[in-house]
Amino acid sequence: MKSDTQSILIIYTGGTIGMREDPMTKTLSPMRFELIQDEIPELHKLGFKIDSVTFSPPIDSANMTPEIWIDLAKTIKECYSKYDGFVILHGTDTMAYTASALSYMLENLDKPVILTGSQLPIGVLRTDGKENIITAIQIAAAQRKGKAIVPEVCVYFSSFLFRGNRTTKEDSQQFSAFASHHYPKLAIAGIDIEYYYGLINYPSSKGTFKINTSINDNVIVLKVFPGLNRKYFESILSLPGLKGVILESYGSGNMPTYPWIFEAIKSATLRGVIFLNVSQCPGGRVKMGYYETSRELQEAGVVSGKDITIEAAVTKLMFLLGQKLSADEVVEYLNQNLSGEIEN
Ligand code: ASP
Repeated sequence: MKSDTQSILIIYTGGTIGMREDPMTKTLSPMRFELIQDEIPELHKLGFKIDSVTFSPPIDSANMTPEIWIDLAKTIKECYSKYDGFVILHGTDTMAYTASALSYMLENLDKPVILTGSQLPIGVLRTDGKENIITAIQIAAAQRKGKAIVPEVCVYFSSFLFRGNRTTKEDSQQFSAFASHHYPKLAIAGIDIEYYYGLINYPSSKGTFKINTSINDNVIVLKVFPGLNRKYFESILSLPGLKGVILESYGSGNMPTYPWIFEAIKSATLRGVIFLNVSQCPGGRVKMGYYETSRELQEAGVVSGKDITIEAAVTKLMFLLGQKLSADEVVEYLNQNLSGEIEN
């Protein structure tokens, strides 16, 4: 691996990694990237050419929006030929959503796009930010026979490299904040960074890199729970302009068999609303028709989310609804694996 010539672009969007405590209010808010760089003199030792851009203003990722995903995709597109890899510094709260959205928006990707952040700000003595950012840069720069080792949108966090659209933030306290319940780690950073080549997606087509930034945010997530109120359920499903609903169901995709649930879903489907069934369980997968309690959903036209995460599902639905597709085509693509987000 040639290690001294790679060029990496760091895109700083905000997040705890670059936050500082306000002495008055004692709350954390993002600071400028130059101040972050001062905290990591080790960056110079990597031997790569490292440039950075800062999104203005840097945000707490709780304020993430589809517009910022589009700006990220455009930034990567504009700089694509100049860099060997990209590292996005991002808050952990919505990192899995951004990684998922980018995995659909960046087409024919053949360079690494690695999202990372930290649980403790970079200026704090016990910060996890330094290791995360340094290793993320090394992964973004890693090549074998002149080609990127991980040409995917990934999340690197606390020694593990995950496929981005398989991740979920599952711990707000431990350094190991992310999990990928349905797909194995792509690499583990111990003494060496061990890559699992057989699990990494390598672009099969010779198509050139391009971005697709059409997004439609007329979607909602509806979580089912015992006592789900009919009035609210029906009025949400009849909201004007609603295009897509993620039903967060029980277990292997089950919902109560109350006739009014079936009727409300059926009538929204007839108006062109698309339903995607995603399980509340982090493990396992949706198996529509396995129980009586999901067979009717299937009849009403609800699509199985299979083993998709909620983050990958929301962004996939937004992405597909943003394309010029008929409802049938959206359903067809929801059933397909677009960029490693489901196993069929
Ligand atoms: N609220 C922060 C954010 O998502 C949390 C973090 O970065 O870990 O921006």
